[in-house]
Amino acid sequence: MKIHIDQELQVFEERCRNANLRITPQRIEIYRELALAGDHPSAEILHVRLIKKMPTLSLDTVYRSLSTFVQYGLIHKVETIESQARFEVAKTLHHHLICKNCHQILDFQWQSMDEATMPDDVEKWGRIDRKSVVAYGICRQCLEEQEQNSHHITLKGDDYE
Ligand SMILES: [Zn+2]
Ligand SMILES: [Zn+2]
Repeated sequence: MKIHIDQELQVFEERCRNANLRITPQRIEIYRELALAGDHPSAEILHVRLIKKMPTLSLDTVYRSLSTFVQYGLIHKVETIESQARFEVAKTLHHHLICKNCHQILDFQWQSMDEATMPDDVEKWGRIDRKSVVAYGICRQCLEEQEQNSHHITLKGDDYE
């Protein structure tokens, strides 16, 4: 999937103006870096990537900008079980797969979920703006590594017999 970053930044700036949100070079760079990232980075990871271009940028500025963007609906915070929040630019509807081992977050599409009506209790509760499913498990790569390791241990055990 090709990301038209210039176009995305134009939309971002327009949305900032509409929301009376100050557009600073830092905010643009933070948004750009997040828009280009495919891995749902944390604030810490984004900061490490950004200081290569902006050595004076503080982690605190990254934190504060991200939380402002979330507040204005420009980006989403991905719900995880980790204490570190992970972020992504708000784009087309999708859900998340999270590996409990390597903490990698992958997007997936689930159209039938998107179109499903919510249970009555939820309808009574109020208005739903966005449905996001998070599925936790172990990714294929980690599964294979675990399998290899357990083979390794078994083989080692055999040596001692
Ligand atoms: Zn994994
Ligand atoms: Zn995502």
